[in-house]
Amino acid sequence: MSTILIVEDEKKIARFLELELRHEGYSVLCAEDGKKGLEMGRQPNVDLIILDLMLPEMSGIEVCRRIRRDSDVPIIMLTAKDDVSDKVMGLDMGADDYMTKPFAIEELLARIRVALKKHRADTAGHEGVLRAGKLSLNPASYQVAFDGTPIQLTKKEFDLLHYLMAHAGEAVTREKLLQDVWEYDYAGDTNVVDVYIRYLRLKIDEPFGIKTIQTIRAVGYMFRYEEAEKN
Ligand code: CA
Repeated sequence: MSTILIVEDEKKIARFLELELRHEGYSVLCAEDGKKGLEMGRQPNVDLIILDLMLPEMSGIEVCRRIRRDSDVPIIMLTAKDDVSDKVMGLDMGADDYMTKPFAIEELLARIRVALKKHRADTAGHEGVLRAGKLSLNPASYQVAFDGTPIQLTKKEFDLLHYLMAHAGEAVTREKLLQDVWEYDYAGDTNVVDVYIRYLRLKIDEPFGIKTIQTIRAVGYMFRYEEAEKN
């Protein structure tokens, strides 16, 4: 099942799209401004982005430009009728396709299917690789890299990162991590999780100036990729 991110500030349109896409069997995420759209669009579980161009906080063009720095996730722009310069700029920034509002939902659904299929064909041989911004994790080869630079992890560190990336955006408890990553019911101390989280931050966050694993107070941890914005 593919996950589609809708970046759209007009609530009625966002809601309509969400319902239609869910009905088609997609998993749907929503962001109501450009900044949130950029942050969510960089997460490893997003397979396609529907991006409105007129957005608060950050324009759709800018969101597209920044996502394209390190990701080839398919992007379909939503543009106002007759705004040719926006369309051209969006396509120049690396958007794959665009739809003019108001649009027929059947046409958008068809374009989504085409974009997903093309992307799958383009990335054939790289199935299962999880990407978040410049960070990539390949489960088949047990390789993790940041912008092409390999990061050496132990098996357990790799498994923990893999699990967190596969559940990006979800707060996961220490108990759940012990059970699923260490694969045994652990009745006692969950400190071992904190220790391994610290190892990952030392190997990934610190040297590359990014934030990947967030501490969720009183719950546990969550994978959310963040990097310092620079132009
Ligand atoms: Ca808008």
